Amino acid sequence: MRTRNAVARDYYGILGVSREASDDEIKRAYRKLARQFHPDVNPDPEAQEKFKDINAAYEVLSDDRKRQIVDLGGDPLAPGGGGAGPGGPGGAGPFVGFQDIMDAFFGGATGSRGPRPRTRPGADAILRLELDLHETAFGVEAPITVDTAVLCTTCSGAGTAAGTHLATCEACGGRGEVQSVQRTFLGQVVSARPCTVCQGYGTTIPHPCATCAGDGRVRTRRSLTVKIPAGVEDGMRIRLAQQGEVGPGGGTAGDLYVEIHERPHDVYSRKGDDLHCRVTVPMTAAALGTRLTIKTLDSEEIVDVKAGTQPGSTMRLRARGVPHLRGTGRGDLYVHLDVRTPTKLDADQERMLRDFAKTRGEEVAELSKQGGFFSRMRDAFNGHG
Ligand SMILES: [Zn+2]
Ligand SMILES: [Zn+2]
Repeated sequence: MRTRNAVARDYYGILGVSREASDDEIKRAYRKLARQFHPDVNPDPEAQEKFKDINAAYEVLSDDRKRQIVDLGGDPLAPGGGGAGPGGPGGAGPFVGFQDIMDAFFGGATGSRGPRPRTRPGADAILRLELDLHETAFGVEAPITVDTAVLCTTCSGAGTAAGTHLATCEACGGRGEVQSVQRTFLGQVVSARPCTVCQGYGTTIPHPCATCAGDGRVRTRRSLTVKIPAGVEDGMRIRLAQQGEVGPGGGTAGDLYVEIHERPHDVYSRKGDDLHCRVTVPMTAAALGTRLTIKTLDSEEIVDVKAGTQPGSTMRLRARGVPHLRGTGRGDLYVHLDVRTPTKLDADQERMLRDFAKTRGEEVAELSKQGGFFSRMRDAFNGHG
């Protein structure tokens, strides 16, 4: 019996299927939408509402009796609506985990996961290596000490004492997992958890190897030599294949990464492959020009400082920086010139400098006699003198 205000929800519309849809089509549509809107995969609050609707629609349309009520224009989930009988409100059934729903559809829990292997690949390891600028620039063969897990030579990774073997786990019968059954609106949902007795391996070690306690590997410290190519930079990593941690059960070792840390240099600062340094020259040398010997990383260069060089000037020595890591050639060395003003002048030097200033027409105040530069400046502004 249909009444005007009992608006039945459009369950077909929610799942996006036609009224003639087969059970299979309904199941497929639900599976697709559940994947899209399950709160585990879609944190949007709207998705949560939508997921509830999808569940309700599936609950109704997958049940022949409830679907019949819908087809007659009723709503089996509406309280008292549509004369639904004992179906009752069921939209908010037990909240089943996403994986459990997928398992229910795909039979994931019925043994496809199986026991996990005892032998697994090892993890990568990282080691910090401090080098000075000369080493990063020109390369070096650096001795390193590595502290990682290596294969247990007593049992060759098997983890069992000599002459003994693995035993099938009695708790899980070798499957590595135990199943639990949950009753939901989807019917029985079987979910599997790793076996706690064998940690999911499906086997146990009745007599573990005394050296590695069954792990198949032992921690040890060993020495290696790592070849650092010329031109490496601070923060770069050099990969040594399979020199990392050996895996559980003697699994393939991960890689070892050697991370370069360049110590700051007293003289040179590095920017990429260019180097920068500062050189101080006396005022007179800057004015008259001079010849300097500049020590680079690996040579000595004679450099002419032009007459009239200003403080803060830069000279560039091409290809005297760090060799490029890739390709040929080198960065440049930039020499920044500081000009030193003389500080302690004797009477003769001062007189000569004053005479020099006079010939240049440069006014120089005599601080000791005139009460200071600022006092003279003030007088000048006030129109005195
Ligand atoms: Zn061992
Ligand atoms: Zn077990």
